[in-house]
Amino acid sequence: MKASHDLPQTPPELSFPSRLPNVGTTIFTVMSALAMQKGAVNLGQGFPDFDCDKRIVDAVADAMREGHNQYPPMTGAAPLRQAIARKIDAIYGRAYDPDREITVTAGATQALLTVALCCVHPGDEVIVIEPTYDSYLPAIEMAGGTPVFVPLEAPDYTLPFDKIAAAITPKTRLLMINTPHNPTGRVWRAGDMQKLAEIVRGTNVLILSDEVYEHMVYDDAPHESVSRYPELAQRSFVVSSFSKTFHVTGWKIGYVAAPTALTAEFRKVHQFNVFTVNTPMQIGLAHYLDDPQPYLELPAFYQKKRDFFRAGLANTRFSLLPCDGTYFQCVDYSKISDLPEAEFSKWLTTEIGVAAIPVSAFYHESHESGVVRFCFAKKEETLALALERLARL
Ligand code: PMP
Ligand code: GLN
Repeated sequence: MKASHDLPQTPPELSFPSRLPNVGTTIFTVMSALAMQKGAVNLGQGFPDFDCDKRIVDAVADAMREGHNQYPPMTGAAPLRQAIARKIDAIYGRAYDPDREITVTAGATQALLTVALCCVHPGDEVIVIEPTYDSYLPAIEMAGGTPVFVPLEAPDYTLPFDKIAAAITPKTRLLMINTPHNPTGRVWRAGDMQKLAEIVRGTNVLILSDEVYEHMVYDDAPHESVSRYPELAQRSFVVSSFSKTFHVTGWKIGYVAAPTALTAEFRKVHQFNVFTVNTPMQIGLAHYLDDPQPYLELPAFYQKKRDFFRAGLANTRFSLLPCDGTYFQCVDYSKISDLPEAEFSKWLTTEIGVAAIPVSAFYHESHESGVVRFCFAKKEETLALALERLARL
């Protein structure tokens, strides 16, 4: 193998301006690589360290053996779109038309990018509530839009509806929301949805509602999907994913539910973005969705992990922030260190052997609160090992 310095260099005349000049490698990749290198317990990047249900693997394998191996329709395999529509109707009470209002995507990430590309034009403003998932900004930038930031502040990350309302201008095309929220674990309540409806009433603002953690809301609270609210649903792209719900982050299958006119525009871009998504997993997922138990049991499954992890953290010098949803727990480390968050996360990984994600990575510019995020989608023994190390601090 050639060493990298032996590889031919790009001739200067072929260099071109970067499409995303301010973007490097994602914090999740960076922290996972460091965790691996240092042999740290990886509570950084959000993914389970346990396997998915064997039945879902069998359902996909069966689909392949049954010959579901050619292109499905551009919009997604019909049985999966129908299963998604039935699920949304059963839980949130909105009947999306599977043929005209549901599109299967290559995970939520592609869905988010495709939403931005289909509706945001150069000069349009997009309201982003920070801290925000890392793919939102590049998606807006690639679409040529201008992000308008509304920051949330630790430790409560309370939604500042007055600031959200003030951020709306005649140029606002899209407002991006995420509940349950990565990284803060905060959850929008019915009252928040009503305030949102009031704010956008009478405007042309579209909403992108990222609901990938919809089945991780704790303490018996419901997930407030925008699809529950007709006034919001009629202007919303609802994005979700099977990554988190079925412990299959590597499968990269998600979907967008949106009214017919919005879906028509979404599909114009989607068909040239990926055209469609792998068939056997779609067919397998459609079968697996026949049984609602796996996703109905998910809140209790993760709440147990949350409670175990929080009880352990209570014996450390970290201060716990609320966690009402998602599989993320944020902690304040100001009693332990005054390092900036990124430095602290690296130090924690290298010296203490537990990887975390700095919450500052979810803000567009320097924003230090002394808070890092841990992922508790892990086996109890993994969490116990991490807690043992964190208790030494
Ligand atoms: N949105 C949020 C808030 C996320 O945390 C993630 C990733 N975990 C995604 C979107 C992307 O999901 P997917 O793996 O389906 O692309
Ligand atoms: N969504 C996951 C997280 O927040 C990571 C996904 C990724 O690695 N891009 O940790």
